[in-house]
Amino acid sequence: MITVKQADILLQSIEIDWGVCSIDINDSEGEVLRETIISDRDFPPFDRVAMDGYALSFTAWEEGGRTFTIQEEQKAGDPQITLKNKLYCIGVSTGGILPEGCDCVIKKEDILRQPQLIEIPKSISLKLNQNIHHQGSDYPKKTILLRSGVVISPTEIGILASVGKHTVHVSKKPKIAVIATGNELVPIEDTPKNYQIRLSNSYVIQSALKLNKFYDVDCFQLKDDYGLIEKSLETYLSKYDVLVFSGGVSAGNFDFIPKALTEAGVKEIFHKIKQRPGKPLWVGKKEHRLIFGLPGNPVSAITCLYRYILPNLNRLLRKTLGEQETIKLTAPIEFKKSLTLLNPVKITNIDGTCWGTPIATNGSGDLVSLTKSDGFIECEAERDSFPKGALMRVYKWRN
Ligand code: AMP
Ligand code: MG
Repeated sequence: MITVKQADILLQSIEIDWGVCSIDINDSEGEVLRETIISDRDFPPFDRVAMDGYALSFTAWEEGGRTFTIQEEQKAGDPQITLKNKLYCIGVSTGGILPEGCDCVIKKEDILRQPQLIEIPKSISLKLNQNIHHQGSDYPKKTILLRSGVVISPTEIGILASVGKHTVHVSKKPKIAVIATGNELVPIEDTPKNYQIRLSNSYVIQSALKLNKFYDVDCFQLKDDYGLIEKSLETYLSKYDVLVFSGGVSAGNFDFIPKALTEAGVKEIFHKIKQRPGKPLWVGKKEHRLIFGLPGNPVSAITCLYRYILPNLNRLLRKTLGEQETIKLTAPIEFKKSLTLLNPVKITNIDGTCWGTPIATNGSGDLVSLTKSDGFIECEAERDSFPKGALMRVYKWRN
């Protein structure tokens, strides 16, 4: 059995590229950018007026000019006009190009207006270049604005639009099959007999995948029947990039998944981790396909999904991952076994610090306790006690 750290190293060594596709920027929110976005022109592209008011020559004011004849209006969106005389001014609007010969914009509220001229009160002092947003002062042409790997949010979409990209290259998502196994499972529409249970894992897995923007997901159900599993695997492996099994990976006589997968040519990367819950986790790879065998216990399944599958799928999409989040413990935890404990927590933010209160569960089937939690913390196997205030890695059900 390997440790959590070893499992992480093995998972991180997996390299698969599911490729890139081009999509409309309207559909790109939450996707992983896979190209470098460079400014196609200076930002701003011209000396931009930053206030509604009047543009004039600063020197004229410095030399004592206090009244300026209004030459004309330079509207936003109109081509540049030229100041004809230093004792003139030009009416300007925010977003318009600065008229040639002007190097100062005084805002409307600061002047006294007469029909054909403006007067600058003594109390107002001007500065060279005031209220002018100079060409290229944000970003000159050919500056890298966005790097490959960022997750596209509305601000990134604003940049894409500003540089004229209506389509954008993003990571192609894998096609995912979620397969529930177990003779005791019945579809949720059915009434289970007293020895059966309703199948819930696939719903949990699919919703967590969707929350993480993996939408290409199909769900299947299999009995613990080796022949059936073997045959179905052919289809799954030919049609999907990622297979997520739940159940059938422990030590039971009818836990056929690891054997069937290896027989189908899937190379086992590891089976079983020193952790609670989720010890039986199985991971394998076949060419561009990644295969996970989650334990059937609902708490184990969701915990392994969040701890191992989602971070690695995101990594394989080439997503630039943020720092691992941490919380401080509100109450001590003792765990003397040489296993990593993945313990549910309720998170509260007090004065900007995130605190996690451990939630007790009734074992691996207790999804109800999980609904009272926001995620889980990782208590490393190397330590037995985690005092109040200890800084812990946290994995959240939603971000
Ligand atoms: P297994 O990993 O197949 O030994 O299953 C462990 C436990 O998880 C058993 O109690 C199963 O009934 C339960 N289980 C397995 N698959 C599911 C599922 N899809 N939904 C809910 N419970 C499940
Ligand atoms: Mg089973």
